[in-house]
Amino acid sequence: MAVSAGREFLAIPGPTNMPDEVLQAMHRPALDIYSRQMVELSDSLLSDLSRLFATKGKSYIYIANGHGAWEAVISNVLSRGDKVLVLESGRFALGWGNAAQAMGCEVEVLKGDWRRAVRPDEVEERLRRDKDHSIKAIMVVQVDTASSAYNDIEAIGRAIKAAGHPALFMVDAVASLGCMPFAMDKWGIDVAMSGSQKGLMSPPGLGFVAVGDRARAAHQTAGLRTPYWDWTQRDGPEHYQKYAGTAPVHLLFALRKALDMLFEEGLDNTFTRHRLLAEAVRRAVAVWSEGQVFSFNIADAAERADTVTTVRAAEGHDLFALHRYCKDKCGVVLGVGIGELQNRAFRIAHMGHVNAPMLLGTLGVVEMALAALDIPHRKGGVAAAIGYLAESVPA
Ligand SMILES: *Cc1c(COP(=O)(O)O)cnc(C)c1O
Repeated sequence: MAVSAGREFLAIPGPTNMPDEVLQAMHRPALDIYSRQMVELSDSLLSDLSRLFATKGKSYIYIANGHGAWEAVISNVLSRGDKVLVLESGRFALGWGNAAQAMGCEVEVLKGDWRRAVRPDEVEERLRRDKDHSIKAIMVVQVDTASSAYNDIEAIGRAIKAAGHPALFMVDAVASLGCMPFAMDKWGIDVAMSGSQKGLMSPPGLGFVAVGDRARAAHQTAGLRTPYWDWTQRDGPEHYQKYAGTAPVHLLFALRKALDMLFEEGLDNTFTRHRLLAEAVRRAVAVWSEGQVFSFNIADAAERADTVTTVRAAEGHDLFALHRYCKDKCGVVLGVGIGELQNRAFRIAHMGHVNAPMLLGTLGVVEMALAALDIPHRKGGVAAAIGYLAESVPA
């Protein structure tokens, strides 16, 4: 017996649920890539991306996923042998650092912990010890999608300033842009990157980079530049150069619609929606955790992301069965634990095009699965989530 007919719901942190309007926006012929309409579409997207990153700097669009945007950042500002400090809070900053290492940079990891966010005072202390300024760049994620840690980018930016260190501040906002506040210029970020398929509700395949003045200056002497990623090439007079070739026309149609929807909702409203739905998830997880099997991966409540929640399980519980039940019996796909948390956690994504029924439906299915599989938990997680939302969203 199963109750999974109907649209399968992705509760995974990317690709996320795409609005029908976004899907439909792609259902049309391609544009002449030399037309005025095409130029206007690109211009509108590039300026709206800078608005999302909250920077006066320019943005770039790559036909790539997040890994490609990582490489775009590295190749445009760094040289072989440059030292990069990676701030660990899970898996993704390390992944970015691995790419830098493979490209010839020297990488030092500021050891963190999968159960907590980056500590700004530890960053400051490490930078103060770097007296000859051998560290050229600092890599950190705003939200680590594996651990669900939320890093206080503003505080880390202040720590870098307090240390008086000139390293470039590079931030990955793949799992947070368009979901949680981001203020590139105000927070002292030199270069930021993101992707299309998470908070931005669009198909996978577009990577974004926003560039501040100091990153632009570093670009002038960067040794790792290659033609496809190169900002200077993309700044050339022809529209064709903006994509180093043919524009990804349909992905751009989709992104245009998604950004229109975001701005129509109003970014502040979008951020509030994410915060409310995230807190509803946390209320449910807190109740389930009283059964002694589950716990929040991120110990400190203030360091939990509003876009994804990683739930740890005690040893000896079959999370594979939980995933299978949710997917096969109910049509909900949960995120699996990755990296250190493989087979030891599940993740619920709440980023992008998500509303109360999608979220409450997902929580309902998880609670149903816990009961059906006889995994110890306290009942009433969904009721707690509903109670919280009812209080927070007054009539
Ligand atoms: C998903 C993700 C990436 C990688 O993006 P891909 O599109 O899968 O290459 C990088 N950083 C963070 C924080 C992510 O969540």
